[in-house]
Amino acid sequence: MQTPAPFPLRRLAGPLASAVVLALFLLQLWELKESSARRVGVVLDDAEQGIQVTEVLPGLPAERAGLRAGDLVVAIGGLEMRALPDYDRAAALFASGEPVVYRVRRGDEGLEIAVRPGAPMEWGEIGLTALVLLAYLAVAWLVREQAESDLRARLLRLFTLAVAFEMAAPASGSLIGNPALALASGLFFLLVTGVQVGLELHLASVVPDRQAWIARRPWVVPAFYAVGLATALTAAFTLLSEALGWGVVPWSAAAAQGVMFAYGFPLWALGVTGLLGYQATRHPQPRGRQQAGLVLLGVLPWVASVLIGTAHTLLGIERWGWLDQWQLMLLPFPIAVFIAIYRYQLFDIELVVRRSLLYTALTTSLLLVFYAALGAGGALFSHLVGGDRGSVWVIGGATLLLGLLFAPLRQALQRLIDRRFFPERTAVRQRLVDLAQELPALGKLPLMGRHLVGRLTGIFGIRSATLLLATPQGEHLVTLASTLVDFEEQLDQSFLLSPDDPGVQLLRRSARPLPAHQPAARSASMAQRLHRLGAELTVPLLAQQKLVGLLLLGEKSDVRPFTGEELELLNLLGHHVATVFENARLFESATFEGLTGILRREAILEQLDRELQRALRYRRPLALALADLDHFKAVNDRHGHLAGDLLLKRAAQALASPLRSTDAVGRFGGEEFLVVLPETDLAGAAVVAEKLRQVVEELAVALEDGTVLRITVSIGLAAVDPRAEWSPSALELLGEADKALYRAKADGRNRVEPAAP
Ligand code: GH3
Ligand code: MG
Ligand code: MG
Repeated sequence: MQTPAPFPLRRLAGPLASAVVLALFLLQLWELKESSARRVGVVLDDAEQGIQVTEVLPGLPAERAGLRAGDLVVAIGGLEMRALPDYDRAAALFASGEPVVYRVRRGDEGLEIAVRPGAPMEWGEIGLTALVLLAYLAVAWLVREQAESDLRARLLRLFTLAVAFEMAAPASGSLIGNPALALASGLFFLLVTGVQVGLELHLASVVPDRQAWIARRPWVVPAFYAVGLATALTAAFTLLSEALGWGVVPWSAAAAQGVMFAYGFPLWALGVTGLLGYQATRHPQPRGRQQAGLVLLGVLPWVASVLIGTAHTLLGIERWGWLDQWQLMLLPFPIAVFIAIYRYQLFDIELVVRRSLLYTALTTSLLLVFYAALGAGGALFSHLVGGDRGSVWVIGGATLLLGLLFAPLRQALQRLIDRRFFPERTAVRQRLVDLAQELPALGKLPLMGRHLVGRLTGIFGIRSATLLLATPQGEHLVTLASTLVDFEEQLDQSFLLSPDDPGVQLLRRSARPLPAHQPAARSASMAQRLHRLGAELTVPLLAQQKLVGLLLLGEKSDVRPFTGEELELLNLLGHHVATVFENARLFESATFEGLTGILRREAILEQLDRELQRALRYRRPLALALADLDHFKAVNDRHGHLAGDLLLKRAAQALASPLRSTDAVGRFGGEEFLVVLPETDLAGAAVVAEKLRQVVEELAVALEDGTVLRITVSIGLAAVDPRAEWSPSALELLGEADKALYRAKADGRNRVEPAAP
């Protein structure tokens, strides 16, 4: 019997967490409503004889009633004010619109001021909080969708949820009317922050993967959590002890939190920066460095806000308001982690950041050197000449020099940087430039194709490369060359692709290399072909927006994706190669026939004319063979024209294979071939023709569905005999061969028939 699968409790965790976040946020809203009803709009601080107003916020009840900064609040509503907690007790009794009497001392004066508490809710700020909260929940949800089992995914989810919890909970500062809730909120804040410290440091240490030095020291990660939690627990215990009056902690809660904010937070931020910075510069793989660099960029706003906040506190400067939007500052971090780990693909952060930083530093220092030289030169010159007039010349001359030297110097240094810091990059670039130059020299399309795919696998360290080329009329894309040997031997027909295929169209329109899954998503036939080839990347070859061909590249041997720089290089190569292939194809298509690759009708007739002239002038023998495939129409009818074309192509290649290099074969008509055999008499031609008949008979062409096509050929022969007086024209000779061919057909086909004597 089958036991029912246990209900996956973990599936409940996400919705449950979101529900708690929502509940906390509703509590925060309710509390905001309560506190704005009690709001008077003053900032207070403990003073020697009571509490003092340090700031009166504009547009709020306190300002309207006439309270001023510097007023010493002595009593409120009859309650004496000795320290801040007294104020909280009084404020708990406030009610919206009910006047409360503030007894204050202003200088030597004593005043009684009636304040009516109550301020409108700050919906702008609430809306912002809600949006950021949603963003955190969205990241948590996305991560969950992406990878459940990955450690980084779990950490990232916990981290985003922790921040969401913290944001949603009411801030203790606003809970004046509710001391118990304020205490609970304060404790919650400290503990959630402590957890965040551990989570964030842990996460930074496994981006993009676990750092080697941490793998060797298993205590490091627990230490992250221990330090974060210990700090938070100390501050929380202090708060609890103070609130409940235990008096067991010798320092105040405010002091404990002050230390945590002023010293703990910056250390935390620097720790995260250090962990990421280490990977961004030291990770063995460029991709790893780029991923860590991206996350580092993402965390910088928060690090900056923490450090600036600390500087303000330590220097006693008033805090900037935006520093309180730390949740917003921290948001780029989880997003960057998410992108770096799951979506990182094409954005070459290393190129953008590392290089431009280097270049900026370089340019700046170059400028500084120039100006220093300028200043020193001016000073020296005026000292030597003993007047101010000299320095004018120096400055003029040096400025001219600066303008002349700056650009070439900077370019030279940039090249040096490229060679020194990005050697792998310049090497790949150089090898591609070499490749592009070698191709045209090879002349023939198949040779060029084979060279291209072979070199590309070497340069990029990929498992395979295949080149498809559009047929001259542009009806199909056929395989020209592939490093997959089986594949090159297999029928090309299965890899015929129509240029109207939506996947091919996508590549033509985007005009740049695309990951194979993108065109595959558009077209099933493309998907099937790409899958069979193990293609990871597709590069369109475009010459003047015309699709000349496609390069299909397999995955890299080290399974790393292509970097942005490599894609850029492949893009350039694709355009260059397209033009080279297009030119070669134009040349070939003028001479060779598109489907079969043998000479075109015009070309073979020209050849026949030339050879005939020579044979007649020098009285040399010459033979020609006219070959016509037998019952070819039946192949088309039974298997379709594509299969017919394939068989035709193979038959043409078979006919060409046993011939000498001085012989020539061309496509005379639909499935008729003309073979010109110089220095051959009729008897010799019969031997050659018999060989041709046999190779065609032995030819077997397998279709994708497993059917095997076979064909035979009938051949008619004619020859020029130097001993005879007859000097035929090419047309007459062809007529003779045609008659012989007719006899071969009539006598049962699959045979060779010489011309009648
Ligand atoms: P046989 O020569 O043995 O008398 O019979 P056959 O069926 O070959 O007859 P014929 O030579 O008269 O027919 C030629 C056929 O070849 C007609 C056409 O369907 C087919 N054909 C001609 N050119 C092409 C081509 O480029 N591709 C394909 N698939 N078929 C072609
Ligand atoms: Mg025929
Ligand atoms: Mg025919």
